[in-house]
Amino acid sequence: MAIPQAEFTIGLQCKLCGKIYPKSPVNFCTDDFGPLEVVYDYDAIRATVTRAKIEQRPRTMWRYRELLPLDGPPTVGPQVGCTPLIRADRLAKELGVSKLWIKNDAVNFPTLSFKDRVVSVALSKAREFGFKTVGCASTGNLANSVAANAAQAGLEAYIFVPSDLEKAKILNTSVYGAKVIAVHGTYDEVNRLCTQVAFKYNWGFVNINLRPFYAEGSKTMGYEIAEDLGWRFPRHVIAPMAGGSLIGKIHKSFEELYKVGLVSEAPRTKMYGAQATGCNPITDAVKSGRDRHKPVRKPNTICKSLAIGDPADGYFSKNLIHTTGGWADDVTDDEIVEGMLLLARTEGIFAETAGGVTIAVARKLLAENRLPRDEEIVLCITGNGLKTQDAVEGAVEKPALIKPSLDAFVEVFTGGDMGLPKTYGSAVLV
Ligand SMILES: *Cc1c(COP(=O)(O)O)cnc(C)c1O
Ligand SMILES: [Zn+2]
Repeated sequence: MAIPQAEFTIGLQCKLCGKIYPKSPVNFCTDDFGPLEVVYDYDAIRATVTRAKIEQRPRTMWRYRELLPLDGPPTVGPQVGCTPLIRADRLAKELGVSKLWIKNDAVNFPTLSFKDRVVSVALSKAREFGFKTVGCASTGNLANSVAANAAQAGLEAYIFVPSDLEKAKILNTSVYGAKVIAVHGTYDEVNRLCTQVAFKYNWGFVNINLRPFYAEGSKTMGYEIAEDLGWRFPRHVIAPMAGGSLIGKIHKSFEELYKVGLVSEAPRTKMYGAQATGCNPITDAVKSGRDRHKPVRKPNTICKSLAIGDPADGYFSKNLIHTTGGWADDVTDDEIVEGMLLLARTEGIFAETAGGVTIAVARKLLAENRLPRDEEIVLCITGNGLKTQDAVEGAVEKPALIKPSLDAFVEVFTGGDMGLPKTYGSAVLV
């Protein structure tokens, strides 16, 4: 007999004091303001899931549905997830490591970032709760994803973003018919405003009152990595950090796979966090041994998607990095661009600035001997470069401009004698 999915989710629990709350659109404990997290009945899940059962299901993130907090089937984003895990040998050679994988969420459906995972859970849950209007505070990718998925679901969407966001990220939100509110201020100020709006109008804000459910969607990135490795865990994972949620959920996903018996060995994966130096509250806390992160008042980096100065899960992600034996670091804007180009030129993957952060931090950790070269490493690429083209515009060659003749081509590219390329990039009409 099929057990209804609702049975697997017990409720919400405060991460600080452990108090249990019923499944409802709330995100903090009324006693101590601690964040709430979904609790599952792992024994019940263990009794029903098997590898074979999961492998028979369609290749979407919903193949792990027993470990997601919906009461019924997903009604938003049913095709999200199961992005490629790529063996990155050419990048591995460049970095000087033996075994490297890229989890490529730059091609996640439908809006080309890992945010489609969290949004499909949050909006499916929003519908279960009966919300007709949804919204978010966003650094860009979340805006795109809420807008697109809300359109598909027929929900009204209010999207709040910092006004200095990349043009492409704003356009990629407005196009779906969402109401976009550009706020003169930092992400943290946008987030505070959204908390007030959510409360006043009783709307479903995916990363505010729906946050406990939303955050669970990130776990699917970890389930997919483990399944695609043949139901086992990598030794090292590097993930970009904004609010610090994704990195924790990837690790939680590994612990859960072990708990419910889908992987027989407990995870020993070390988790590494990556940020931009222009907004590095979590990596700074890790490196300085500070217990609480120091909020960054005015983020200043080309990597806007990670520019959260006061990350909600800063404390937990810092602790996780320490307890797993990993590390964290941050990189400059120039290093971010170099990272984007290195990934594009070795693996043919155009990632957004956050991907440049991950690649450049991997390189830095290797140079600092924080990361061994002979053990398996997974790099999480979370967003698509087509949305942050400005970042690399000044760093790539302009096309060679020639007359439509073979002579002109030969002149520019072979110096007339099939030798080395001569003036490519000069854009001089020959
Ligand atoms: C949101 C985001 C992240 C990280 O999100 P967390 O808030 O740390 O969960 C990473 N990469 C990209 C591209 C993002 O948009
Ligand atoms: Zn509490």
